[in-house]
Amino acid sequence: MTITMMVTGGCAQNEKADLVITNAKVYTVDASTPYAEAVAVKGNKIVAVGSSAEVEKYIDPEATKVIDAGGKLVIPGFNDAHAHFGPVDPDYIELRYTTDPSVITEKVRAQVARSVKGQPVFGGHWEHEMFSTGEWPAKELIDGVSPDNPVVLNRTDGHSALVNSYVLRLSGITRDTPEPFGGEIVKDPVTGEPTGILKESAMSLIKTGDFEVKRSPAEEKERELRGYLLAIRQAAEYGITSIQIPGPADFAMYDRIMADRMLTCRLDIGGVLTADAARLAEYQKLRDKYPAGGDWIRFGYLKDFMDGTLGSATAMMFEPFDDEPDKAGLAQMTYEELEKRVLAADALGFQIGIHAIGSKANNWILNAYEKAREANGVRDSRHRSEHAQILIESDIPRFSELGVIASMQPTHCITDKRFAEKRIGTARSRWAYAWKSLADSGAQLAFGTDYSVEPLNPMEGLYAAVTRKDRKGEEGEGWFPEEKLSMEKAIEYYTLGAAYSQFMEDRKGMIRPGYLADLVIVSEDLLTVPENRIMTVKADCTVVDGKVVFEREK
Ligand SMILES: [Zn+2]
Repeated sequence: MTITMMVTGGCAQNEKADLVITNAKVYTVDASTPYAEAVAVKGNKIVAVGSSAEVEKYIDPEATKVIDAGGKLVIPGFNDAHAHFGPVDPDYIELRYTTDPSVITEKVRAQVARSVKGQPVFGGHWEHEMFSTGEWPAKELIDGVSPDNPVVLNRTDGHSALVNSYVLRLSGITRDTPEPFGGEIVKDPVTGEPTGILKESAMSLIKTGDFEVKRSPAEEKERELRGYLLAIRQAAEYGITSIQIPGPADFAMYDRIMADRMLTCRLDIGGVLTADAARLAEYQKLRDKYPAGGDWIRFGYLKDFMDGTLGSATAMMFEPFDDEPDKAGLAQMTYEELEKRVLAADALGFQIGIHAIGSKANNWILNAYEKAREANGVRDSRHRSEHAQILIESDIPRFSELGVIASMQPTHCITDKRFAEKRIGTARSRWAYAWKSLADSGAQLAFGTDYSVEPLNPMEGLYAAVTRKDRKGEEGEGWFPEEKLSMEKAIEYYTLGAAYSQFMEDRKGMIRPGYLADLVIVSEDLLTVPENRIMTVKADCTVVDGKVVFEREK
């Protein structure tokens, strides 16, 4: 009997697949065989990875669904290791990535049609720099389709809004309204009329009337479910096949969606870190009900907060901020309390993940995790620093030494770098968002988004990790370019690294026979695409558990 060269899961050679993706460039993230051309799937598992010719044998012309990828890149499904995932408002008009302003008109028209007269219409995340026109939008864009409804559409940064004439009238904003302190009512240079753009504190003038939506409890429940399904749909559209929610979420709701066969994304849901024995016992019950051996809804880790954020100057630092020298951040608990909680939860075998932005916050949680090993014994605990944002150089090797996961969200770097150096100076910025140094030291990295603080789109994270440039792109090599990653590594931390952070690297995060068939075909080759196009790359087809759950319309 001859052995084929192809990697298989030990299945018989004549076994036929349910799904075959062929004529692809497969980046498997499997170090032993990083590249292939085709993948065969049977049931919910990958059964073969190899050349198109090799995998062809798995095609039963009668029964196998065959996707010709047309040479496109196939990678493991994205696993967002830190997303505050939950229902979205089904009535909110999502305008992120809009390039054609007329799309805004159409979306407002559609939402107004679903509303009654006087009912406010909200939306946002538009960014005029992305418009084909490159110009700020004006009320004329939406006035014609919203004569009887107030419309407020926030810019992506939340620092300005487009409103329609109805809102200007309700708010009493005219050409004569004086500008509020710290705000701007943008006016037409020719006519002097307000354009509908209100900036900063001028947004506080916005009034949308006293319209009250009346819904029965049943309608509310139905609406909530719609919000969950929309969010799950968005994840599939972004090629996301797994999400780890930091802290609690509604298990029952996801159970129901799962029972209805509408869940297309594997979920870990956590709890709140505590030293309280009764609450830990509750978590043990949840862990039994949603065990680590499961593949769909699982109990994740216990979450806590050590500090705040860099943006609000509440990140806990060893030394004060350069621009606010009377502040060095805010500890959310004493070190003694931290250690007490960590030791109690660790003793019961829980995984722990603590939000740590500042260098002192990270130092403290590393100390507490180290203490847990001394007190409770060394085990494969994979405790996590959620964000691991600013470190002191001597703490970098401790992640690997203590087996602590650096759970990082690359977009924070390119959002924060605008003010980071002003706030903490160049020397301290050197070890901020230091994913390459952490990886080189042997640390395990897991990438995510921190949605909804940042967009759910994983392409933004990949872009941030490999460029360290702002979203508009900049000249030069990027911010602290020595910390840039290769695209291969960035994808790995978003797939295999994230799977490792939830103890699932034995069955998820690689395209390998025997692994769960979670895959995504992307619109362009991320490994070769110019960096200014990375964020425009899209998921064309998303496969979860062997099933196609999203296909982009051609
Ligand atoms: Zn978060």
